[in-house]
Amino acid sequence: MFINGKWENAKSGRRFQSFNPATGEPIGEVPDGDGIDAISAIDAAADAFPDWSSQTAYQRSQVLYTAHALMMENLDRLAKIMTEEQGKPIVAARNEVKYGADFLLWYAEEAKRIYGKTIPSARADQRFMVLRQPVGVVGAITPWNYPISMITRKVAPAIAAGCTIVLKPAEATPLCAKAVFDMFAKAGIPAGVVNLVTALEPGPIGAAFLGDPRVRKLTFTGSTQIGKMLAREAATHLKRVSLELGGHAPFIVCRDADPIHAAKGLVLVKFLNTGQACISPNRIYVHTDLIDPFIGELSKRVSALKAGSGFDPGVRIGPLVNDAALEKVDRQVQDAIQNGAELVIGGQRLREEGLDQGFFYAPTILNHVTADMTIYREETFGPVAPIIPYENGDDLLSMANDTSYGLASYVYTQDLKKAFTLFEGLNFGIVGINDINPTSAAAPFGGMKESGLGREGAIEGLNEYLETKLGGFSI
Ligand code: NAP
Repeated sequence: MFINGKWENAKSGRRFQSFNPATGEPIGEVPDGDGIDAISAIDAAADAFPDWSSQTAYQRSQVLYTAHALMMENLDRLAKIMTEEQGKPIVAARNEVKYGADFLLWYAEEAKRIYGKTIPSARADQRFMVLRQPVGVVGAITPWNYPISMITRKVAPAIAAGCTIVLKPAEATPLCAKAVFDMFAKAGIPAGVVNLVTALEPGPIGAAFLGDPRVRKLTFTGSTQIGKMLAREAATHLKRVSLELGGHAPFIVCRDADPIHAAKGLVLVKFLNTGQACISPNRIYVHTDLIDPFIGELSKRVSALKAGSGFDPGVRIGPLVNDAALEKVDRQVQDAIQNGAELVIGGQRLREEGLDQGFFYAPTILNHVTADMTIYREETFGPVAPIIPYENGDDLLSMANDTSYGLASYVYTQDLKKAFTLFEGLNFGIVGINDINPTSAAAPFGGMKESGLGREGAIEGLNEYLETKLGGFSI
């Protein structure tokens, strides 16, 4: 663990192992921290806050530039750690490291633009001035599916704003977190500004963040269920909360769209990270006129996706994170088939050629999925494309919006009016129009409804770590 600028063991002396999900083999171990370690990290962050928050924006910016440069220099090394620990193909891991580094660069630049403002008063003898100030110590919790970029997406804006931070990564990917904090240490970030607590049991760390009134903000990326629980508990001290939670993205192929182009886009976004992405399409609405060419192209492309170790050339499908994930995906697929869905391709665990050592599931296409199937409502987090043929375009918005989630959505159309109607009418924080990658450090990412609160990336992501202070001056 990295606490107050030093690598530390857990006070209990306990450690836990990290495993390669493609082979099931242990690949390293880290300290197993608990509430006592979390409090000592909070102590360090609270002690470092006065100095760090009074550094100039240019000083804070400089360490972010250095961290960015180090991350890019270490791109290959970090990508290899990620492929080994999280399982995604090495090309995707390199892309994630670059995406993660982008947040360091973007917030290095934005740190210098935390502007206040003056406001005209109705009184001649009064002046108003608005300052933006850091919220204080931040507690951060991150998931395993994007184990490096989800860390920089929080740490970069927090320290750009002048906050100090304690981060708990997912138990499945502590080695990725350790590698990122190793770079923070080398970037010259002062002791106590960034702290890492690894733990097998997340509860005590979360409880320390929630119970300690010095932690003024909690930022969480993970499941909606845990996010809601944390938000409820955070209310006790009225901590500020940012939540990036689950999704259930609609992917709409309008009657006027090019079905071949849309099928190509779907394969790219649906099977990204083996479907283990919060922005993964989960309901694919295709106009009945296009269903045959769309499914034809999709099947051709999906049958060419190779599963295996992310280090093998040509592999596009890595393992799922664990047995429970495999079971969940298969349960949803079998439920859909039993309730009348047609299995076009896939639909079972992959075991041949040594894949039984890892958690591999065949890329799967289901057709004729309906609203009474579990997969229509629950996030899948696996390589399954559920297709819902539709005839009446007038119902599209109500069908697509019929979910408690509101993160990403996608539309394929060549009709400008339809594009605007759907962009404006979809109740989702992100809408990709003929675009399957509407994400960037410069763009606000986040969800509506039960997909979360707040945004990450862009100026919105920096505002999450800033308080607004009004000064009224009588002169
Ligand atoms: P998760 O089970 O909610 O875990 C996320 C993080 O929360 C992990 O670090 C986990 O620790 C920790 N955690 C679990 N229980 C906790 C508790 N009681 N107190 C404090 N921390 C606790 O989610 P996941 O399975 O890792 O991630 C997948 C989910 O994340 C999906 O729903 C996905 O959509 C969502 N996600 C959202 C975004 C976004 O930007 N909106 C991005 C990526 C992922 P352990 O690992 O030790 O359990």
